[in-house]
Amino acid sequence: MVVQDTTEILDRILERVKSVDPVNTRKWFDELTPVSFDGGVLQIGCQDLSWAQYLQQRCQANFTQAAQSITGHLVAVRFVVSGRESAADTDTAADQRHVLLHPDYTFGSFVVGPCNRLAHASCVAVSQNPGMIYNPLFLYGNVGLGKTHLLHAVCHGARKQAPNLNIQFHSCEEFVNDFINAIEQGSLPEFQNQYRNIDILIIDDVQFLREREQSQEEFFHTFNALYNNRKQIVLTADSAPQDLAALEERLISRFKWGLVARLDAPSYETRVAIVKKKSHLRGLELPDNVAELIAQQIKTNIRELEGALTIIYATSRAADRPITLELAKQALGVQEVTLARGIAMSDIVQSISEQFDVRITDLQSKKRSQSIALPRQVCMYLARSLTRHSLEEIGGHLGGRDHSTVVHACTKIEQLYKDDAAFRDRIDRLTSHIIQSNR
Ligand code: ADP
Ligand code: MG
Repeated sequence: MVVQDTTEILDRILERVKSVDPVNTRKWFDELTPVSFDGGVLQIGCQDLSWAQYLQQRCQANFTQAAQSITGHLVAVRFVVSGRESAADTDTAADQRHVLLHPDYTFGSFVVGPCNRLAHASCVAVSQNPGMIYNPLFLYGNVGLGKTHLLHAVCHGARKQAPNLNIQFHSCEEFVNDFINAIEQGSLPEFQNQYRNIDILIIDDVQFLREREQSQEEFFHTFNALYNNRKQIVLTADSAPQDLAALEERLISRFKWGLVARLDAPSYETRVAIVKKKSHLRGLELPDNVAELIAQQIKTNIRELEGALTIIYATSRAADRPITLELAKQALGVQEVTLARGIAMSDIVQSISEQFDVRITDLQSKKRSQSIALPRQVCMYLARSLTRHSLEEIGGHLGGRDHSTVVHACTKIEQLYKDDAAFRDRIDRLTSHIIQSNR
């Protein structure tokens, strides 16, 4: 069947793209609109330029393929900012010469916790009142803690508030390269004009200026020109100003004139919230215990949390299985040994005694009644997967049973786990509870 109606075509394209490319799919795809389908060109409307650029860079091929197979024609797909005629690529250059914003990196998608509260609040303030409050704003912290994300969010926020602001957002490396090119091509005045006649200058990773004396000098003058004109400067680095030892003292002291905010590694709770936020952004369902597992496994770099999420989704799709704790563990290659760190037999016995409402002494007794035997078998099964104890040791802890009893228990629980959804759910919750209370 050949589909003609543009709304229906777009719906079906989205359906297909979501299924073939869940990693790049975002919840906001649902807000895309059909603009026109004319002369073999399908125009799809986006709310702002960052959406159009994102789609163009990451999704063009999938959209085109889907459009072709759905319409039965050769179709070119263009992403346009709603209310404009031309495609995003032709508009980009004229628009805001430079700033390629990531649509995911907004304040709305940034999880605030004790680790980043000050950095977040100061970025919000700066985007609302550039040049007025904290100038310069200097953010620092280890890699993967959200510095670049916040810089994009400042741009999104400031643009929303005042679309005509001239914002320059560059990595420090770009600044240095632009400067070198300007010298080589004798176009220093243009370079200086580009960097000095603006409202907001954002430079990411200024540690890159280390050992680049001439660039430091130029940056120093750029800084002064903007600062004296009360233009906003936002900078990030991997360490505090005073620890950027290879930088000139006069620059370091200027970095401290405004507000210096540190980003720390997120706590467990913040990590869980970030994982949930990221999967929500992709419009995907993620069970709580899987979010907890990811947060438990990855502690320092948030970018890796997202990588873990991607691996889990990909595995689930490839195996055509729903995302469960078991699948997530498999996908992440969670070694039982890794998990086992710190989990003791007594933690498991204690949790099961509470969960199943049986006494610890009963679990460790010879009693065989079903109400005690089942929780005891669960203990054996969990001890097998969460600790490094041998079969004999596990049996020993639970009333002096031999290894074949433990093997039998594990087989039985595994079977129940497969056959009975409610039981599986209970075991998954129990497992994540034990892991969590041992983190
Ligand atoms: P940095 O620039 O500090 O190395 P990034 O800004 O590139 O770190 O962040 C790495 C990844 O982690 C990004 O995908 C970003 O969206 C995400 N991230 C970091 N902190 C948060 C947070 N608090 N909430 C949501 N996502 C975050
Ligand atoms: Mg960065």
